[in-house]
Amino acid sequence: MINAGDAEGRKAPVYSLVIPIFNEEAVLPLLVRRITALLDKLDASAEAIFVDDGSRDTSVIFLRGMATADPRFRLIELSRNFGHQIAITAGMDAAAGDAVIVMDADLQDPPEVVLDLVAKWKEGYEIVYARRTKREGETLFKRATASLFYRALEQMTSVTIPRDVGDFRLVGRKALETFKQMPERDRFVRGMFGWMGFKQTAVSFERPERAAGETKYPFWKMLRLAVHGVIGFSDKPLRLALWLGLAISGFAALLGVYALFSWLFASGVVHGWTSTVVIISFLSGINLFMTGIIGLYVGRIHAEVKRRPLYVIDRLTGFEEAIAAMSN
Ligand code: UDP
Ligand code: MG
Repeated sequence: MINAGDAEGRKAPVYSLVIPIFNEEAVLPLLVRRITALLDKLDASAEAIFVDDGSRDTSVIFLRGMATADPRFRLIELSRNFGHQIAITAGMDAAAGDAVIVMDADLQDPPEVVLDLVAKWKEGYEIVYARRTKREGETLFKRATASLFYRALEQMTSVTIPRDVGDFRLVGRKALETFKQMPERDRFVRGMFGWMGFKQTAVSFERPERAAGETKYPFWKMLRLAVHGVIGFSDKPLRLALWLGLAISGFAALLGVYALFSWLFASGVVHGWTSTVVIISFLSGINLFMTGIIGLYVGRIHAEVKRRPLYVIDRLTGFEEAIAAMSN
């Protein structure tokens, strides 16, 4: 299409696949086979960038071998586990293609769907996300919490973050360059792409089970991602604190009036220990909760002002001259 494989030397590929890897040794052989098949099927030159997010198993050894043997494979090794969203970012920073496709390593994002994403991109869409119509092999709990989260987030933000969409998507150069200019530390990648606009569309697919290995997203990690999503894209929780504080003050004022009247007109009002305890513990609970919400935002500011790099690269394999061009 735009600058498909030149005869002399390696030119920038048309497609870049970005695949984050965290302890995926169980699925890697199968993944590489499916990715190779996909690369052969694509209509123009393509590269596959694996980002090792501090794996503690043999994933890295396998991938180094792949990146050395096949010129289309590249490997970025981060210096430790930085988390899924940062790993994706590192891969996208290094991607040289005109269209960049982000997908999970566990084959829950089927490589064949990439062909559908590409078809939409050629129709002129800048961002094409893959929407899950059915999720297999995921617990009812995971599906319910995910669904609840997306619906709540929709209520809370002014940014359109498409429902039932993970990080499996294709983005064009314009969107990618925009993404690279977004420096925030706490990254909620799907929200960031929602924010930037452009012509966007969806392709539906049925999400299969993880091909091998275990989920790398236990409940607490999901919760953290959800909190990042809310804090990063909404200031509703802060306003909630304000309204709740106001409501409770109103209630307290009424109670004060009542107390005053009892003191004036009733006799022997010593009892009331229960209500005092209830009110104090209730109010201190609310206070702590609200301080916590504010703390989340302050913590985010703290992380931003440190201006540390988003990630640290330990080692690159298969990049050659592309290394110099890398930002961060
Ligand atoms: N992953 C990562 N760093 C992490 C956790 C996960 O790079 O700290 C990768 C993981 O290897 C996989 C993708 O992110 O390629 C999605 O993880 P997983 O499939 O375990 O999440 P789930 O599909 O269960 O939500
Ligand atoms: Mg998965």
